[in-house]
Amino acid sequence: MKKRIAIFPGSFDPITKGHESIVKRALPLFDEIIIGIGENIHKSYYFPLEKRKQWIKKVFKAESKIRVESYTGLTIEFAKKMKANYILRGLRTSADFEFEKAIAQNNKIMADEIETLFILPTPELSAVNSTIVRDIIRNGADASHLIPKGINLKD
Ligand code: ADP
Repeated sequence: MKKRIAIFPGSFDPITKGHESIVKRALPLFDEIIIGIGENIHKSYYFPLEKRKQWIKKVFKAESKIRVESYTGLTIEFAKKMKANYILRGLRTSADFEFEKAIAQNNKIMADEIETLFILPTPELSAVNSTIVRDIIRNGADASHLIPKGINLKD
């Protein structure tokens, strides 16, 4: 059987318990999950790429099926380059749904062999996102309850 390879693309600025949960829940479905940190030249990030990568690697260091890569350009091109047959995304809100639907449908036109699959967050992680983590940190408060265990954003 063909290897089932998924990419999980995102900014991961920084990785949260929401990301961690999606990847862990998706793991039994795939032979390999490649976490792809997308670098958009028109976007600025709060944490440097190397830090974001290092934290993700640390979270999944015990998982041999998980790889971490970074990329520039279109996600669909990155998926092709990785020989992935699936793109994995989380769906938190109806706004996410509308946005993701347009991208997934266009990606399907550009690469018919690659399927986008969506996973809903568990209820307790529905409101967890990197924007909130950054807001908490910017204001000098503690966001450790929202990020994976063992990760120190001050590292
Ligand atoms: P992007 O800027 O591409 O949305 P993010 O790093 O914010 O990148 O998110 C990467 C993926 O993780 C997205 O598909 C997003 O929906 C998903 N995600 C983020 N937080 C959660 C969460 N709490 N529950 C489920 N999925 C999530």
